[in-house]
Amino acid sequence: MQLPSNKIRLQQLGSTLFNSYAIDVLRLDLIHPVVSGNKWFKLKYAIQAALQLNKKAIATFGGAYSNHIVAAAYACKQAGLQSIGIIRGEKSTTPSPTLQAAQQYGMQLHFVSREAFKNKETCKQSFDVGTYCINEGGYSTEGMLGASEILQVIDTSSYTHIICSCGTGTMMAGLINAALPHQSIIGISALKGHTGLESDIKKLLPQHKQQQPFTLFHDYHFGGYAKHPPILIDWMKQLWQQENLPTDIVYTSKLLYAVKDLCTKNSFDKNSKLLIVHSGGLQGNQSLPINTLPF
Ligand SMILES: *Cc1c(COP(=O)(O)O)cnc(C)c1O
Repeated sequence: MQLPSNKIRLQQLGSTLFNSYAIDVLRLDLIHPVVSGNKWFKLKYAIQAALQLNKKAIATFGGAYSNHIVAAAYACKQAGLQSIGIIRGEKSTTPSPTLQAAQQYGMQLHFVSREAFKNKETCKQSFDVGTYCINEGGYSTEGMLGASEILQVIDTSSYTHIICSCGTGTMMAGLINAALPHQSIIGISALKGHTGLESDIKKLLPQHKQQQPFTLFHDYHFGGYAKHPPILIDWMKQLWQQENLPTDIVYTSKLLYAVKDLCTKNSFDKNSKLLIVHSGGLQGNQSLPINTLPF
């Protein structure tokens, strides 16, 4: 799977929104319009493993708006693997833009009840030996190792703080794994009350990184996963107008809001150099009514 790393760049935030802190955004969203930024990294080694094991297909799990599902479909198509998506919930008469894109990339979709979806082991047993299973959200050691390469795409050694959004925490585990000793890694959870996140992240870290400190914030979910009240939409418009930065409703808008809030509260030393990882996800905005956003 070829990473179009030449498209990734750093964007400096220059407006007054962030209390004069030095902040750059690592624009992983520029990799591809549909395949969200961090997903390339998280899928890389799983796809490689499937190919090495001579598997013919990949099966993975997600909801109707899952960035992981569409990224897996695209990555499989590129790698010459079949793809199967186990989708939570009833099949709707109008499939989400995410699922439509996944199907376009050749993914076979299976809709299962919420109950059956919880029982992933049973689902997995229904696949033959030629199928390689990837967890929901790409949560795996392979995913963590791929995400460890995010900080190598561009020289990021001078940053004191690296701040990212968390779903499963796989990307953050990779960032912790790859961080230099002087760098603090901070995660903003996109889920409400995700109390297992810290231990989920630790489980992915190699033995010698288990004691590595990191910080998580759980108060920037705006009501819960994928919830997007009008104040969040207003914030996204403001970011676009003042910084020319597009964000998504599930992850990166909440991440940027958290950074603004922490900067306003002077939570960092004034000499800090912050790096925000823009992990992509913009295709998810297609689920909003048309013209909700100016980008
Ligand atoms: C999937 C996703 C995340 C969450 O990544 P995890 O590794 O599951 O924590 C964050 N941001 C965007 C845009 C995503 O699509």
